Amino acid sequence: MKIITPHFIYLRDRISTNLSIAFDKTIKKIAPFDELIELYPDAEVTTLRENSLLMPGLINAHVHIEFSANKTELSYGDFMTWLYSVIENREDLINNCGLDCMSKAIDSMLESGITTFGAISSHGMDLDACANAKQNVIYFNELIGSQATMADALFTDFLSRLDASKSIKREGFFPAVAIHSPYSVHPILIKKALEIVKSENLKLTAHFMESIAERNWLDDSSGDFHDFFQNLLKQNKNVCDSHEFLEYFNNNQTLLTHVTNATGNELNTIADNKHTVIHCPISNRLLGNPTLNIKELNEKNIRWIVATDGLSSNYKLDLFEEMKVSLFMHSNAPLLEFAKALLDGVTINAAEALGINAGEIAEGKNADMIVLDLDAEPTKELPIHLILHRYNISKVYINGKLEKNKTLKLNLKETKK
Ligand SMILES: [Zn+2]
Repeated sequence: MKIITPHFIYLRDRISTNLSIAFDKTIKKIAPFDELIELYPDAEVTTLRENSLLMPGLINAHVHIEFSANKTELSYGDFMTWLYSVIENREDLINNCGLDCMSKAIDSMLESGITTFGAISSHGMDLDACANAKQNVIYFNELIGSQATMADALFTDFLSRLDASKSIKREGFFPAVAIHSPYSVHPILIKKALEIVKSENLKLTAHFMESIAERNWLDDSSGDFHDFFQNLLKQNKNVCDSHEFLEYFNNNQTLLTHVTNATGNELNTIADNKHTVIHCPISNRLLGNPTLNIKELNEKNIRWIVATDGLSSNYKLDLFEEMKVSLFMHSNAPLLEFAKALLDGVTINAAEALGINAGEIAEGKNADMIVLDLDAEPTKELPIHLILHRYNISKVYINGKLEKNKTLKLNLKETKK
C-alpha cells in the first residue's frame, strides 16, 4: 500500500485540501493522513510539495501511432489535398516510423499526463509499441475497404490483426475494433465486424462526417470524393449512406470521431443510441474541416470527449494543448463552464465512453493519477488555469505504479517551508 499527500486534490465536485490517498492498483481510501496511516501502518508514504495538485490521469481516446513520423510531409489546409498527400507519402510515413518513432510518440503522451490512450491501428505495425507502453491502451484494430470483391481478403487480414492483439496479455491492454468510416468500408465488412464486436463485447469506434467531401459523397455520390473513388477504385457510387451506416451501430454504444458535418437528424440518432463524439479540434482546423458544434451536442445531451488524433494531423500529442485550442475556437462558450467540460472530456467522460474504471479520483477507481505543480493556491477558476498554464507534471501514476517522476528543482526549497 502507498499513501500520497498532495496539497490539493481535484475531486469531481470540489478541490480538497488536507486529504491523503491510500492506493495500490486502485484507490482504496481518501481520508486525512492520520486516519490512513493508522489503517495502513506499513504503507510507503509520499508527501508532496506546497501547491501540488493531484488529478486524474488524462485519457486520449483517438490517436494514430503508426503515422507518428509526419512533421512537414503532409499537406494541410484542405481535407482532400491532405488525403492525397497521405496516399502519396503513405509508404514513407509507415516505413519511417519504426518502434523507436512510435515509442517516442507514446512516451511524449506519458510526459503530458496521458495515462490511457485509444490507438487506431491501420496495419498492426504499432502492436509491439502499444503492448510495451506504460499506459493503458484500447487497441482499435481498424477495418477498411469499400470493394465487395476484396471483402474476404480484407476481413481475413483484419481478423489476424485482431487475433494478434488478443494475444497480448497484460494489465490495461484491451483489444477493440475500429470501422474506418462510412465512405471507406463496405457494409458486408461492417456487418461481419459488428458480429464479433457484439459477441465478444469489444469497444467500437469509427470516423464519422469529418469533411464536406464525405457529406456530399454519402448524400448523393457527388463532390470531391467522386473523382477520388472513380480514379483510385473505379467506383462511382457510395457503398452506403449515412442513415444506413448509423443504423448498423444502433444499440451498440460507439465512439464517433469528428462529426463536424453531421445533420440534426444524424445527431438525434447519435443521441438516441448514446454514442460518444470525439472532438479533435487541432486536426479539424489543420485539415480545413469545420469546428464541432458543441453547443448543439450539449442541447441534444450527446456526450463528447477530447482527443489529439494522430501526428498525421497534429504537431503534438498533448491534451492540454488540445483543450486550449478548443477553448479559443469555441469563443462563444461560457469560459469557466466550458473549461470544466473540456477537463471532463479528457478524464471522467472519456473513461466512461471507453468503459474503463478511471478518470476520477475516487475510492475504487484505478490509481491513474497525475501530479501538477501549481504555483499558488487554486481559485474557483482552476479549470481555466489548468488549461492556460500547462503546469509542470511532476508525477504520473498508472494503475498505482509511478511511471514518471520529474520533480522541479525548486521543489526541495519549497517543501522546506
Ligand atoms: Zn483518426
